This record gives sequence, structure tokens and C-alpha cells, in this order.
Amino acid sequence: MSNRTFTMIKPDATSKGHTGAILDQMIKAGFSVKAMKWIQLSEAQAGAFYAVHKERPFYGELVEFMCSGPIVAAILEKENAVADFRTLIGATNFKDAAEGTIRKKYATSIGENAVHGSDSDENAKIEADFFFSGLERF
Ligand code: GDP
Repeated sequence: MSNRTFTMIKPDATSKGHTGAILDQMIKAGFSVKAMKWIQLSEAQAGAFYAVHKERPFYGELVEFMCSGPIVAAILEKENAVADFRTLIGATNFKDAAEGTIRKKYATSIGENAVHGSDSDENAKIEADFFFSGLERF
């Protein structure tokens, strides 16, 4: 089991000024930051990151949203990181997310759901490698 996961604070949350509160909630939940950057994705980069969803009907909308403003990308460390972080952020659709979760607090639609969290150890590594070189993490 890997103890690292990958996250993004999405453009809806950065633009509404929720970045600090969301990072604070992650850190208070026991996650430590091993890499971080504030970046705006190009359409091609967002499309590549979400290539697994290419056939889904919302792919175009998702790519457009994810490059609409800056994001914060980060690698986080904690025991049982992937599963515990998915619990912390809540369900994809904020309407189904548990009280107190990051998506319940900050998401406004199924697409504009404030944060990303990797869904497996394998994807956590792929996603972290997409954003960060060896020099940019510790
Ligand atoms: P996640 O693992 O909880 O992020 O969910 P998925 O991997 O299923 O979807 C990836 C992202 O696509 C979600 O976090 C949403 O931002 C977006 N998304 C998922 N379902 C929909 C949808 O029905 N409509 C739109 N517009 N976006 C969606």
C-alpha cells in the first residue's frame, strides 16, 4: 500500500477563494504536503490528464472547466492516503457527499466539485508523475 495520493483544488474553488480553507482541512486531517504547484492547465493538458474519460458525455465540459482558471496540484502523504483522502473529499456528486466533507462544503455541481483525489495507488502515481518531476517533490 502506498501512502501517497494526488490532489487538485479545482478552478471553481480557487476562484472563490477557498484554497486556504481547503488546504487547512487537508493538513488538519493528517495529510502532509510533499509537492505543490499553482498552475493553469492548457486545454491540451487538461484533456491529457482526463484522457481516461474521453468517451464519457461530460468529457468536453470537464476539460473546459479544468482549464478555465488556476488549480493547485499537490502530492499528499499519510497512512492509507488514497482511501482516507477519498473519505475526506466525499462523493463525486456533492449532493451525495457526507456532511463536513470538502465537496459537501465547497462544490456547487457534479462537475464543479472543488477537488480531485486519486482513486487508486496506481493512478496516484500516474497523476503525480503528470505534474511533478523528481526535483519538485520530496
Ligand atoms: P471522481 O473520481 O470523484 O473525481 O469522479 P470521476 O472520476 O467519475 O469523474 C471525474 C470528474 O469528472 C469529477 O470529479 C467531476 O469533476 C467530473 N464529472 C463527473 N461526472 C460528471 C457529470 O455527470 N457531469 C459533469 N459536467 N462533470 C462530471
